[in-house]
Order: sequence, then C-alpha cells, then structure tokens
Amino acid sequence: MKKIEHIGIAVANLEHASIIYEKLFGAPAYKEEEVASEGVKTAFFMSGPNKIELLEATNPESPIAKFIAKKGDGIHHIAFEVDDIIVEIARLKSEGFVILNDVPKKGADNKLVTFLHPKSTNGVLIELCQEIR
Ligand code: ZN
Repeated sequence: MKKIEHIGIAVANLEHASIIYEKLFGAPAYKEEEVASEGVKTAFFMSGPNKIELLEATNPESPIAKFIAKKGDGIHHIAFEVDDIIVEIARLKSEGFVILNDVPKKGADNKLVTFLHPKSTNGVLIELCQEIR
C-alpha cells in the first residue's frame, strides 16, 4: 500500500455538508460524482495534498444509508492507494483479511475499489483503490 488516498465521510445531506467543508478548506468541491452501483453521491475536497470524500446515500439500500441509520454522520472509511489491486487483494486474503468484493468495482474518481470488512481490521472500514489506467 502506498499512502492514504482519501478519507471517506458519510453525510446525511451532501449539499449541507459541502457548505461546511467548503468553509473549512476555503475552496469548493473539485468534483461531484454519483456512483449508481454503490447508491451514493460523492463530493471531493482537497486539503493540501489530502483528499476528503463526502458520501450521501441515494437509496435506502445503500451502505451509506445503513451507516447513517446506525451511527449518524461521521468518518466512514479510510482509503489506501495501491499499485495493483488484484495483487493486494490476494495478499491480504492470504493474511486473513475479509475482502468485501474479490472482484474490484469501479468506484468514484476513476478508481477500481474494494473494501476490507471492519471485523478483520479492528473496526475500521478500509478501502483499497487503484487508479484506472
Ligand atoms: Zn472512498
């Protein structure tokens, strides 16, 4: 794994949360994108070299809707950048981590993504992401 690619924050209302983060960083979201397969609308902000992803559910079956219902708004996942997501999935499986999608999905921001189940990572949902080349 190379570095933290972004931190994902679940929000009940993307428009409202974006106003807060725009004030925080002094700049608007540089990208907004809907990922239909995940049932989310996202907005990305830059803070220096760091990226923050806000996620709002677009339907009640979305993992973000379930998270908000249980825990409310807050930090949802930490995403790490990898060179080769297939190689990392195989390596982490062999180390005993529970991978949510063995076949990575297309996520927001031109990335292939998968997640590690929080039960296997001490309670933190971890995303792996690889730039689609
Ligand atoms: Zn993410």
